Amino acid sequence: MTASSELLSKYQQLMEKFKNIVIFQSAVSVLHWDMETKMPPKGIVLRSQQMALLSQIGHKMMTDPEIGKLIDEIMKHPEYESLNQIQKRNVYLIKKEYDEQTALPEKLVVETARQRTITTDVWKKAKAAKNFSMFKPELEKLFELRKEAAEILMDVKKTPTPYDALIDIFEPKMTSEMITRIFNKLRDGLTSLIEKCLSSPIKPDTSFLKRRIPIDTQRKIAVELARFIGYDVESKEAGGRIDETEHPFTTGYYHDVRITTHYYEDNWSSAVFSVLHEGGHALYEQNLPAEWIYQPVGTACSSGFHESQSRFVENVVGRSREFWTYFLPKLNALTGNAFADIDLDTFVRGVNEVKPSKIRVEADEVTYCLHIIIRFEIERDLFAGKIAVEELPQVWNEKYEKYLGVKIENDSEGVMQDTHWASGLFGYFPSYALGNIYSGQLLAKMQKDIPDWKTQLAEGNFKQIKQWLIKNVHSYGNLYDPADLIRIITGEEIDVEHYFRYLNEKYARLYGF
Ligand code: ZN
Repeated sequence: MTASSELLSKYQQLMEKFKNIVIFQSAVSVLHWDMETKMPPKGIVLRSQQMALLSQIGHKMMTDPEIGKLIDEIMKHPEYESLNQIQKRNVYLIKKEYDEQTALPEKLVVETARQRTITTDVWKKAKAAKNFSMFKPELEKLFELRKEAAEILMDVKKTPTPYDALIDIFEPKMTSEMITRIFNKLRDGLTSLIEKCLSSPIKPDTSFLKRRIPIDTQRKIAVELARFIGYDVESKEAGGRIDETEHPFTTGYYHDVRITTHYYEDNWSSAVFSVLHEGGHALYEQNLPAEWIYQPVGTACSSGFHESQSRFVENVVGRSREFWTYFLPKLNALTGNAFADIDLDTFVRGVNEVKPSKIRVEADEVTYCLHIIIRFEIERDLFAGKIAVEELPQVWNEKYEKYLGVKIENDSEGVMQDTHWASGLFGYFPSYALGNIYSGQLLAKMQKDIPDWKTQLAEGNFKQIKQWLIKNVHSYGNLYDPADLIRIITGEEIDVEHYFRYLNEKYARLYGF
């Protein structure tokens, strides 16, 4: 049975409306990209007005009563069941967004956008001044606004707590209770793995990571890495580009997906791994099914799945012995033999050194998730009213000492290190660790499908691995919620075991235990 032309016509009208929203949002993304990469400092005042106005218009577009009417007519149509799976998913995703957005008062949306710009601006200054008390009042205002939104969304999304409603934005249907269970297991496993690495007599030599590599040379390395993963930033057909920002990020959609990185003369590997990381995000966006562009299904599954792709390319591929078997000679060729005296084993150990540290973005693979677990526990307790904003530095520092054994000297290297809370992104952090867990499960499946993937990688061939990621992850777009997608791809529920096995095997070899 095919859907009647009346039903299909309503469906098409709904999709047309959504297409305009997508195009509108992509324009907002370009303005945001410009703000981070090219805008002169004085532009911030006008830009924050532009962003607030655009968020108001965006909210109006998404809450257009015509959308609600069309959804209603489609879902109550006697032939609704004749729509195919993709069409139904599109309607479901638009309805979800519509219900949530209409529940949020316009005043709250605009006020949040305005406060977000202010808090981010103050955060930058407070971080430079190592002064949390400067940041505190603006963070408190933003936190109250997000809490108000979370309480409203909790009713719409039917989640157990306000914090769960925020998690659901980034990882649909995931709850803080499930995350607590997964993270407790993760924390115990990682803690014992860290102990094994730290007590090993093998101490990686990392001095070569500090060798000065000119920024111009690093830019060439970045392009070479993009070429390797098939992220085109060079040709006349290019759909990508690499720019520079303090904090690397990826933005864009299908044919225009941009990444940023940061070049430090005395820390060249920072750009190498951030380009691979953001490149992994970019491949996901560029390889969503072409026929789904402008549709809700033509987006990534979740933030956690996005992170699984970036961490896969950065770590599983980019920090592997096989990748450096191929790329170290290339790196030497590009840097005038800057690393000719470093053998492959020393090199691979150096880029995989396990060392508890204070800064998340500099953390190695083994300690990384502990940084995330700390942030998750704090957010959960903050939204449950167990801790207050003013207590954040103290709670933060205690947890860093307890979980990572490091002593935080000031709040710039502590609670103010990340931009997320300053931009109101509460509920986002768990996706980083979930991404790592998914990446472990994906790896286990890929190993079965491509038994010689490591040989291919050592020969400088990333093509089949990339095709595997496209077929098994990217091609599903947003057809399923993350818990369903991981089951469909791997046949298993979300589980930390594969990620542990990957880490244990890799680090047992590196540290000789
Ligand atoms: Zn990422």
